[in-house]
Amino acid sequence: MSDRYQCLFGILDQSALHRADKAQLRDQNLALLLRKIWAGPETTRASLARDTGLSRSSVSSLVDELIDMSLVQERGEGISTGGRKPTLVQFNYQAKYILGLDIGASHIGVLLMDLNGQVIHWKQEDCPVRDQPAQALQKLKDLEQAIYEDSHIDQSQLLGVGVAVPSPISPQNPRYLSPTFMPAWQDIDLIKALDFPQNLTLVIDNDANLGALAEVWWGAGQGCHHLAFIKLGTGIGSGFIIDGKVFRGYGGSAGELGHMVIDPEGAKCVCGLQGCLATFVGSQPILDLAHSFGLNSSDLKELIATLKEGHPKAREVITKTAYKLGLAVASLMNMMNPERVILGGELALAADTLLHPLRECVQSRSLWSSVSNSSILTSTLGEQVIALGAATAVLQKALTQPKSIFMDR
Ligand SMILES: [Zn+2]
Repeated sequence: MSDRYQCLFGILDQSALHRADKAQLRDQNLALLLRKIWAGPETTRASLARDTGLSRSSVSSLVDELIDMSLVQERGEGISTGGRKPTLVQFNYQAKYILGLDIGASHIGVLLMDLNGQVIHWKQEDCPVRDQPAQALQKLKDLEQAIYEDSHIDQSQLLGVGVAVPSPISPQNPRYLSPTFMPAWQDIDLIKALDFPQNLTLVIDNDANLGALAEVWWGAGQGCHHLAFIKLGTGIGSGFIIDGKVFRGYGGSAGELGHMVIDPEGAKCVCGLQGCLATFVGSQPILDLAHSFGLNSSDLKELIATLKEGHPKAREVITKTAYKLGLAVASLMNMMNPERVILGGELALAADTLLHPLRECVQSRSLWSSVSNSSILTSTLGEQVIALGAATAVLQKALTQPKSIFMDR
Protein backbone atom coordinates (compact mmCIF):
# COMPACT_ATOMS: atom_id res chain seq x y z
CA MET A 1 0.00 0.00 0.00
CA SER A 2 1.59 3.26 -1.04
CA ASP A 3 2.16 5.99 1.58
CA ARG A 4 0.42 8.56 -0.60
CA TYR A 5 -2.73 6.43 -0.61
CA GLN A 6 -2.80 5.92 3.14
CA CYS A 7 -2.09 9.54 4.01
CA LEU A 8 -4.77 10.99 1.79
CA PHE A 9 -7.49 8.35 1.85
CA GLY A 10 -6.84 6.35 5.04
CA ILE A 11 -6.53 2.65 5.55
CA LEU A 12 -8.73 0.51 3.30
CA ASP A 13 -11.88 -0.58 5.10
CA GLN A 14 -12.81 -3.84 3.38
CA SER A 15 -15.76 -4.51 5.70
CA ALA A 16 -17.38 -1.21 4.66
CA LEU A 17 -17.11 -2.30 1.04
CA HIS A 18 -18.85 -5.57 1.75
CA ARG A 19 -21.77 -3.83 3.48
CA ALA A 20 -22.77 -1.90 0.36
CA ASP A 21 -25.29 -3.22 -2.20
CA LYS A 22 -24.12 -4.58 -5.56
CA ALA A 23 -24.25 -1.39 -7.66
CA GLN A 24 -22.79 0.67 -4.84
CA LEU A 25 -20.14 -1.98 -4.35
CA ARG A 26 -19.05 -1.75 -7.98
CA ASP A 27 -18.85 2.08 -7.76
CA GLN A 28 -16.86 1.89 -4.53
CA ASN A 29 -14.48 -0.67 -5.99
CA LEU A 30 -14.04 1.48 -9.09
CA ALA A 31 -13.21 4.48 -6.86
CA LEU A 32 -10.84 2.37 -4.81
CA LEU A 33 -8.90 1.22 -7.88
CA LEU A 34 -8.89 4.74 -9.31
CA ARG A 35 -7.31 6.09 -6.12
CA LYS A 36 -4.81 3.25 -5.95
CA ILE A 37 -3.69 3.82 -9.53
CA TRP A 38 -3.68 7.60 -9.02
CA ALA A 39 -1.42 7.26 -5.95
CA GLY A 40 1.07 5.46 -8.22
CA PRO A 41 3.57 4.24 -9.19
CA GLU A 42 2.67 2.21 -12.29
CA THR A 43 1.25 -1.16 -11.37
CA THR A 44 -0.35 -4.32 -12.75
CA ARG A 45 -3.82 -5.80 -12.50
CA ALA A 46 -2.42 -8.64 -10.37
CA SER A 47 -0.80 -6.22 -7.89
CA LEU A 48 -4.04 -4.24 -7.66
CA ALA A 49 -5.96 -7.44 -6.89
CA ARG A 50 -3.43 -8.34 -4.21
CA ASP A 51 -3.45 -4.87 -2.62
CA THR A 52 -7.21 -4.41 -2.56
CA GLY A 53 -8.41 -7.95 -1.92
CA LEU A 54 -10.65 -7.79 -5.02
CA SER A 55 -10.83 -10.72 -7.43
CA ARG A 56 -8.62 -10.58 -10.51
CA SER A 57 -11.66 -10.69 -12.80
CA SER A 58 -13.28 -7.73 -10.99
CA VAL A 59 -10.03 -5.78 -11.18
CA SER A 60 -9.68 -6.49 -14.90
CA SER A 61 -13.20 -5.40 -15.71
CA LEU A 62 -12.97 -2.23 -13.56
CA VAL A 63 -9.55 -1.30 -14.94
CA ASP A 64 -10.95 -1.72 -18.47
CA GLU A 65 -13.73 0.69 -17.51
CA LEU A 66 -11.16 3.22 -16.27
CA ILE A 67 -9.20 2.81 -19.52
CA ASP A 68 -12.43 3.48 -21.49
CA MET A 69 -12.86 6.65 -19.41
CA SER A 70 -9.28 7.65 -20.45
CA LEU A 71 -8.32 7.93 -16.78
CA VAL A 72 -5.95 4.97 -16.90
CA GLN A 73 -3.47 4.02 -19.59
CA GLU A 74 -1.70 0.77 -20.38
CA ARG A 75 2.01 1.32 -20.54
CA GLY A 76 4.34 -1.45 -21.68
CA GLU A 77 5.04 -4.70 -19.89
CA GLY A 78 6.22 -5.43 -16.36
CA ILE A 79 8.50 -8.20 -15.13
CA SER A 80 7.22 -11.74 -15.47
CA THR A 81 6.97 -13.89 -12.35
CA GLY A 82 6.88 -17.08 -14.41
CA GLY A 83 4.21 -16.78 -17.09
CA ARG A 84 3.32 -14.06 -19.55
CA LYS A 85 4.68 -10.56 -18.85
CA PRO A 86 1.95 -8.49 -17.14
CA THR A 87 0.73 -5.22 -18.70
CA LEU A 88 1.56 -2.14 -16.65
CA VAL A 89 -1.19 0.39 -15.96
CA GLN A 90 -0.82 3.98 -14.79
CA PHE A 91 -2.99 7.00 -14.16
CA ASN A 92 -3.44 9.47 -17.02
CA TYR A 93 -2.80 12.68 -15.11
CA GLN A 94 -3.51 14.79 -18.19
CA ALA A 95 -6.91 13.22 -18.92
CA LYS A 96 -8.55 16.38 -17.58
CA TYR A 97 -7.56 19.66 -15.96
CA ILE A 98 -8.93 21.59 -13.01
CA LEU A 99 -9.29 25.34 -12.55
CA GLY A 100 -8.61 26.80 -9.10
CA LEU A 101 -9.91 30.31 -8.36
CA ASP A 102 -8.52 32.30 -5.45
CA ILE A 103 -10.92 35.14 -4.67
CA GLY A 104 -9.12 37.16 -1.99
CA ALA A 105 -10.31 40.33 -0.28
CA SER A 106 -7.92 42.40 -2.41
CA HIS A 107 -6.64 40.06 -5.13
CA ILE A 108 -7.77 37.50 -7.67
CA GLY A 109 -5.79 34.41 -8.71
CA VAL A 110 -6.54 31.73 -11.31
CA LEU A 111 -4.62 28.48 -11.60
CA LEU A 112 -4.79 25.56 -14.02
CA MET A 113 -3.73 22.19 -12.60
CA ASP A 114 -3.45 18.68 -14.01
CA LEU A 115 -4.71 15.64 -12.09
CA ASN A 116 -1.33 15.19 -10.38
CA GLY A 117 -1.24 18.64 -8.82
CA GLN A 118 1.14 20.08 -11.43
CA VAL A 119 0.45 23.75 -12.01
CA ILE A 120 0.16 24.36 -15.75
CA HIS A 121 -0.54 28.10 -15.51
CA TRP A 122 -1.07 30.70 -12.81
CA LYS A 123 -2.12 34.32 -12.98
CA GLN A 124 -2.76 36.76 -10.18
CA GLU A 125 -3.76 40.43 -10.00
CA ASP A 126 -4.57 42.95 -7.30
CA CYS A 127 -8.27 43.81 -7.30
CA PRO A 128 -10.61 45.54 -4.81
CA VAL A 129 -12.70 42.37 -4.51
CA ARG A 130 -14.35 43.19 -1.19
CA ASP A 131 -15.96 46.40 -2.45
CA GLN A 132 -16.21 45.80 -6.20
CA PRO A 133 -17.84 42.42 -6.94
CA ALA A 134 -18.65 43.21 -10.60
CA GLN A 135 -15.04 44.19 -11.30
CA ALA A 136 -13.76 41.09 -9.50
CA LEU A 137 -16.06 38.74 -11.43
CA GLN A 138 -15.02 40.31 -14.72
CA LYS A 139 -11.34 40.04 -13.81
CA LEU A 140 -11.80 36.35 -12.98
CA LYS A 141 -13.23 35.73 -16.45
CA ASP A 142 -10.39 37.73 -18.06
CA LEU A 143 -7.69 35.76 -16.22
CA GLU A 144 -9.45 32.47 -17.01
CA GLN A 145 -9.53 33.40 -20.70
CA ALA A 146 -5.86 34.41 -20.65
CA ILE A 147 -4.96 31.05 -19.10
CA TYR A 148 -6.82 29.13 -21.85
CA GLU A 149 -4.94 31.14 -24.47
CA ASP A 150 -1.52 30.59 -22.87
CA SER A 151 -2.01 26.91 -22.12
CA HIS A 152 -3.93 25.93 -25.28
CA ILE A 153 -6.32 24.08 -22.96
CA ASP A 154 -9.98 25.05 -23.17
CA GLN A 155 -13.02 24.77 -20.93
CA SER A 156 -14.11 21.48 -22.56
CA GLN A 157 -11.00 19.83 -21.08
CA LEU A 158 -11.90 20.83 -17.54
CA LEU A 159 -13.08 18.38 -14.93
CA GLY A 160 -14.22 21.07 -12.57
CA VAL A 161 -13.60 24.38 -10.86
CA GLY A 162 -12.62 24.94 -7.24
CA VAL A 163 -13.35 28.36 -5.78
CA ALA A 164 -11.71 29.81 -2.65
CA VAL A 165 -13.44 32.75 -0.97
CA PRO A 166 -12.42 35.02 1.92
CA SER A 167 -15.52 34.22 3.91
CA PRO A 168 -16.94 31.36 5.95
CA ILE A 169 -19.02 29.11 3.71
CA SER A 170 -21.89 26.95 4.82
CA PRO A 171 -21.48 23.47 3.26
CA GLN A 172 -25.30 23.38 2.99
CA ASN A 173 -25.53 26.69 1.13
CA PRO A 174 -22.26 27.67 -0.53
CA ARG A 175 -23.91 30.24 -2.80
CA TYR A 176 -23.62 33.27 -0.54
CA LEU A 177 -20.67 34.97 1.16
CA SER A 178 -20.85 36.30 4.70
CA PRO A 179 -22.52 39.74 4.88
CA THR A 180 -20.27 40.49 7.88
CA PHE A 181 -17.01 40.14 5.95
CA MET A 182 -18.15 40.73 2.35
CA PRO A 183 -21.17 43.09 2.60
CA ALA A 184 -21.02 44.16 -1.06
CA TRP A 185 -21.44 40.48 -2.06
CA GLN A 186 -24.36 39.64 0.20
CA ASP A 187 -27.03 39.49 -2.53
CA ILE A 188 -24.83 37.81 -5.13
CA ASP A 189 -25.51 34.16 -5.88
CA LEU A 190 -21.91 33.09 -6.42
CA ILE A 191 -22.74 29.96 -8.41
CA LYS A 192 -24.88 31.97 -10.82
CA ALA A 193 -22.40 34.85 -10.99
CA LEU A 194 -19.44 32.58 -11.81
CA ASP A 195 -21.46 31.27 -14.75
CA PHE A 196 -19.71 27.96 -15.44
CA PRO A 197 -21.40 25.23 -17.52
CA GLN A 198 -23.54 22.95 -15.37
CA ASN A 199 -21.64 19.79 -16.29
CA LEU A 200 -18.53 21.14 -14.53
CA THR A 201 -18.13 20.17 -10.90
CA LEU A 202 -18.00 23.33 -8.80
CA VAL A 203 -16.62 23.31 -5.26
CA ILE A 204 -16.70 26.48 -3.15
CA ASP A 205 -14.97 26.71 0.21
CA ASN A 206 -13.28 29.11 2.59
CA ASP A 207 -9.76 30.07 1.45
CA ALA A 208 -7.93 28.96 4.60
CA ASN A 209 -9.67 25.55 4.55
CA LEU A 210 -8.41 25.11 1.00
CA GLY A 211 -4.92 26.29 1.96
CA ALA A 212 -4.87 23.55 4.62
CA LEU A 213 -5.96 21.00 2.02
CA ALA A 214 -3.20 22.09 -0.40
CA GLU A 215 -0.57 21.76 2.32
CA VAL A 216 -1.64 18.21 3.18
CA TRP A 217 -1.72 17.10 -0.46
CA TRP A 218 1.31 18.87 -1.88
CA GLY A 219 3.08 21.06 0.67
CA ALA A 220 4.68 21.16 4.10
CA GLY A 221 1.77 19.19 5.59
CA GLN A 222 2.23 16.00 3.56
CA GLY A 223 1.84 12.90 5.72
CA CYS A 224 0.17 14.95 8.46
CA HIS A 225 -3.28 14.11 9.92
CA HIS A 226 -3.63 17.04 12.32
CA LEU A 227 -2.70 20.41 10.90
CA ALA A 228 -3.57 24.08 11.14
CA PHE A 229 -2.97 26.42 8.21
CA ILE A 230 -2.98 30.11 9.00
CA LYS A 231 -3.47 32.56 6.15
CA LEU A 232 -1.93 35.93 6.92
CA GLY A 233 -3.27 38.38 4.35
CA THR A 234 -5.62 41.36 4.42
CA GLY A 235 -7.28 39.49 7.29
CA ILE A 236 -6.43 36.26 9.09
CA GLY A 237 -8.07 32.94 8.51
CA SER A 238 -7.21 29.43 9.54
CA GLY A 239 -8.07 26.02 8.20
CA PHE A 240 -7.90 22.85 10.28
CA ILE A 241 -7.24 19.31 9.17
CA ILE A 242 -8.39 16.97 11.93
CA ASP A 243 -8.00 13.21 11.52
CA GLY A 244 -7.09 13.81 7.87
CA LYS A 245 -10.23 15.81 7.03
CA VAL A 246 -10.99 19.53 6.72
CA PHE A 247 -12.85 20.56 9.88
CA ARG A 248 -15.57 23.10 9.10
CA GLY A 249 -17.62 23.17 12.29
CA TYR A 250 -21.41 23.01 12.46
CA GLY A 251 -22.20 25.87 10.05
CA GLY A 252 -18.90 26.14 8.15
CA SER A 253 -17.51 28.88 10.36
CA ALA A 254 -14.69 27.00 12.14
CA GLY A 255 -11.22 28.51 12.01
CA GLU A 256 -11.96 32.21 12.53
CA LEU A 257 -8.67 32.64 14.35
CA GLY A 258 -8.52 36.28 13.25
CA HIS A 259 -11.43 37.03 15.55
CA MET A 260 -9.96 35.54 18.69
CA VAL A 261 -9.89 38.33 21.27
CA ILE A 262 -6.33 39.37 22.11
CA ASP A 263 -7.14 42.61 23.93
CA PRO A 264 -10.66 43.06 25.39
CA GLU A 265 -10.08 46.83 25.47
CA GLY A 266 -8.63 46.92 21.96
CA ALA A 267 -9.75 48.58 18.73
CA LYS A 268 -13.03 47.75 16.99
CA CYS A 269 -12.70 44.99 14.39
CA VAL A 270 -14.41 44.69 11.00
CA CYS A 271 -16.53 41.87 12.53
CA GLY A 272 -18.02 44.24 15.11
CA LEU A 273 -16.12 42.77 18.07
CA GLN A 274 -13.30 44.46 19.93
CA GLY A 275 -9.57 43.69 20.13
CA CYS A 276 -9.58 40.72 17.72
CA LEU A 277 -6.27 39.28 16.49
CA ALA A 278 -7.12 40.79 13.06
CA THR A 279 -6.87 44.28 14.57
CA PHE A 280 -3.18 43.57 15.25
CA VAL A 281 -2.07 41.15 12.55
CA GLY A 282 -4.18 42.08 9.50
CA SER A 283 -2.26 43.87 6.74
CA GLN A 284 -3.63 47.36 7.58
CA PRO A 285 -2.81 47.30 11.34
CA ILE A 286 0.70 46.06 10.50
CA LEU A 287 1.14 48.95 8.04
CA ASP A 288 -0.23 51.37 10.66
CA LEU A 289 2.32 50.03 13.15
CA ALA A 290 5.07 50.44 10.52
CA HIS A 291 3.99 54.06 9.98
CA SER A 292 4.22 54.70 13.72
CA PHE A 293 7.84 53.50 13.43
CA GLY A 294 8.48 56.00 10.63
CA LEU A 295 8.26 53.49 7.76
CA ASN A 296 6.21 54.44 4.71
CA SER A 297 5.45 51.03 3.23
CA SER A 298 2.30 51.11 1.12
CA ASP A 299 1.68 47.36 1.37
CA LEU A 300 3.02 44.25 3.10
CA LYS A 301 5.21 43.31 0.12
CA GLU A 302 7.00 46.64 0.41
CA LEU A 303 7.39 46.26 4.19
CA ILE A 304 8.91 42.80 3.73
CA ALA A 305 11.25 44.13 1.03
CA THR A 306 12.39 46.77 3.57
CA LEU A 307 12.88 43.97 6.11
CA LYS A 308 14.98 41.97 3.64
CA GLU A 309 17.15 45.05 3.08
CA GLY A 310 17.99 44.76 6.79
CA HIS A 311 16.02 47.74 8.13
CA PRO A 312 15.92 47.34 11.98
CA LYS A 313 12.56 49.15 12.31
CA ALA A 314 10.94 46.70 9.90
CA ARG A 315 12.34 43.86 11.99
CA GLU A 316 10.81 45.41 15.11
CA VAL A 317 7.39 45.71 13.44
CA ILE A 318 7.43 42.04 12.40
CA THR A 319 8.66 40.92 15.84
CA LYS A 320 5.86 42.80 17.63
CA THR A 321 3.34 41.34 15.19
CA ALA A 322 4.76 37.83 15.72
CA TYR A 323 4.19 38.10 19.47
CA LYS A 324 0.54 39.08 19.01
CA LEU A 325 0.07 36.20 16.57
CA GLY A 326 1.85 33.95 19.07
CA LEU A 327 -0.82 34.61 21.71
CA ALA A 328 -3.49 33.23 19.41
CA VAL A 329 -1.35 30.35 18.13
CA ALA A 330 -0.53 29.32 21.74
CA SER A 331 -4.26 28.99 22.46
CA LEU A 332 -4.73 27.15 19.18
CA MET A 333 -2.00 24.68 20.25
CA ASN A 334 -3.68 24.08 23.60
CA MET A 335 -7.06 23.48 21.98
CA MET A 336 -6.08 21.46 18.95
CA ASN A 337 -2.60 20.01 19.53
CA PRO A 338 -1.75 19.96 15.82
CA GLU A 339 1.28 18.16 14.46
CA ARG A 340 2.12 21.14 12.27
CA VAL A 341 1.08 24.77 12.01
CA ILE A 342 1.78 26.18 8.56
CA LEU A 343 1.79 29.90 7.85
CA GLY A 344 0.80 31.19 4.44
CA GLY A 345 -0.07 34.57 2.93
CA GLU A 346 2.10 37.62 2.39
CA LEU A 347 3.27 38.02 5.98
CA ALA A 348 4.71 34.48 5.88
CA LEU A 349 7.30 35.85 3.42
CA ALA A 350 8.97 37.42 6.47
CA ALA A 351 10.11 33.82 7.16
CA ASP A 352 12.50 33.48 10.14
CA THR A 353 11.97 37.08 11.29
CA LEU A 354 8.36 36.08 11.92
CA LEU A 355 8.95 32.44 12.90
CA HIS A 356 11.59 32.90 15.62
CA PRO A 357 9.65 35.29 17.90
CA LEU A 358 6.42 33.44 17.10
CA ARG A 359 7.87 30.08 18.19
CA GLU A 360 9.32 31.69 21.31
CA CYS A 361 5.96 33.20 22.26
CA VAL A 362 4.08 29.96 21.58
CA GLN A 363 6.59 27.89 23.61
CA SER A 364 6.30 30.20 26.59
CA ARG A 365 2.50 30.44 26.52
CA SER A 366 1.20 26.96 25.79
CA LEU A 367 1.27 23.68 27.64
CA TRP A 368 4.38 21.64 27.07
CA SER A 369 2.24 18.63 26.11
CA SER A 370 0.44 20.72 23.44
CA VAL A 371 3.58 21.82 21.61
CA SER A 372 6.34 19.33 22.41
CA ASN A 373 5.78 17.31 19.23
CA SER A 374 4.52 20.13 17.02
CA SER A 375 6.29 22.37 14.57
CA ILE A 376 5.48 25.80 13.16
CA LEU A 377 6.60 26.34 9.55
CA THR A 378 6.01 28.65 6.64
CA SER A 379 4.28 27.35 3.52
CA THR A 380 6.40 26.08 0.65
CA LEU A 381 3.58 26.56 -1.86
CA GLY A 382 3.88 30.36 -2.02
CA GLU A 383 1.18 32.60 -3.42
CA GLN A 384 -0.48 29.74 -5.30
CA VAL A 385 -1.42 27.81 -2.15
CA ILE A 386 -5.09 28.85 -1.97
CA ALA A 387 -5.86 28.40 -5.68
CA LEU A 388 -4.02 25.07 -5.60
CA GLY A 389 -6.16 23.99 -2.65
CA ALA A 390 -9.32 25.03 -4.52
CA ALA A 391 -8.36 22.85 -7.50
CA THR A 392 -7.37 20.04 -5.13
CA ALA A 393 -10.85 20.03 -3.55
CA VAL A 394 -12.24 19.08 -6.98
CA LEU A 395 -9.56 16.40 -7.44
CA GLN A 396 -10.34 14.99 -4.00
CA LYS A 397 -14.03 14.78 -4.90
CA ALA A 398 -13.23 13.14 -8.24
CA LEU A 399 -11.07 10.47 -6.61
CA THR A 400 -13.57 9.69 -3.87
CA GLN A 401 -16.80 9.91 -5.95
CA PRO A 402 -15.57 9.30 -9.52
CA LYS A 403 -18.93 8.12 -10.87
CA SER A 404 -20.64 11.40 -10.03
CA ILE A 405 -17.92 13.46 -11.66
CA PHE A 406 -16.29 11.54 -14.50
CA MET A 407 -19.52 9.91 -15.70
CA ASP A 408 -21.48 13.14 -16.00
CA ARG A 409 -19.66 14.40 -19.07
ZN1 LIG B 1 -12.99 40.49 14.61
